[in-house]
Amino acid sequence: MAKKLNIIGVMTAGGDAPGMNPAIRAVVRTAVFHGVKVFGVEKGWYGAINDHIHELTAHSVSGIINRGGTFLHTKRCPEFKEKNNRHKAVINFRKYGIEGLVVIGGDGSMRASVALINDFKLPINVVPASIDNDIPGTDFTIGFDTAVNTAMEAIDKIRDTADSHERLFVIEVMGRHNGFIAADVALVCGAEIVIIPEVKHNIEAIAAKINKGRQRGKESFIVVVAEGAESGSSVRDKLAKRLPDMDIRVSVLGHIQRGGSPSAFSRELAGKLGATAAELLIHGKSGLLVGTKSDRVNPVPLNKVGKLIKKIELEQLRIAEMLSV
Ligand code: ADP
Repeated sequence: MAKKLNIIGVMTAGGDAPGMNPAIRAVVRTAVFHGVKVFGVEKGWYGAINDHIHELTAHSVSGIINRGGTFLHTKRCPEFKEKNNRHKAVINFRKYGIEGLVVIGGDGSMRASVALINDFKLPINVVPASIDNDIPGTDFTIGFDTAVNTAMEAIDKIRDTADSHERLFVIEVMGRHNGFIAADVALVCGAEIVIIPEVKHNIEAIAAKINKGRQRGKESFIVVVAEGAESGSSVRDKLAKRLPDMDIRVSVLGHIQRGGSPSAFSRELAGKLGATAAELLIHGKSGLLVGTKSDRVNPVPLNKVGKLIKKIELEQLRIAEMLSV
């Protein structure tokens, strides 16, 4: 297929996620392979408005495949919701001859991209990147697997001390309004309880389950709670009232879940999705969220993604619960 675009831009916007760097690398190297010039927009939409734009070469992205974060940086930019600011960004893109963009980011970045497409007909493909895995239209987002692995390693360590001291640990994990990280982490760490926003929880039933376990001789417990459901300290306080003789501790894993070298799976996604998003854009196919379905790259129109709902797998929760007896 003949190329249609000769100059493209690439940016990371919104929350950072491990794997953004290999995704930028994939976009840049794909552009170079096709003889297309590529510009990097620094600090997301803020950099687009304020002209933090510079040319990238194949060499600019050397040595970043294994680095967490994003070397283009990212920044929240609420002023991008105003059309006059989006216009400023488009004027800057035109200054460099940028004919289309690959945007690597989460659902906010996707909404910003749709606004740009609708207002200015700028060709854009979005690559889903978020530790939260909360983007509809793709099975997985870049960074999710790394965050789950980071949380798993931390919880494994906490489990060692919980076992030694016969303690209950309430562990708060990230995930914004969803429980995708918590649900995966609960399964892979063998947590006794998982609390997520999607499923109503009953603190009396949780305390009763823990008591039952103690009667059977169980000595340590892990309760994983998604930040969007309730804070770890609030769950700890409620459990402490109902289990007064237990040593209950709380641990908030926090931002370690955002950092670190991307896992093999996050890098694989970054490579495949970044390259496909760039190739489609260069060949004149845009307005797409380039995600995955059943292990295959699966581009879907951005205007359809808003109508899709990403649901948590209840079967996974059932299995986690069954195995944690
Ligand atoms: P993420 O992309 O990780 O979901 P945000 O929700 O912060 O992160 O969105 C990233 C950026 O996208 C915001 O800082 C803002 O600049 C822009 N953005 C978000 N929603 C809109 C919108 N409705 N219209 C225009 N720009 C938006």
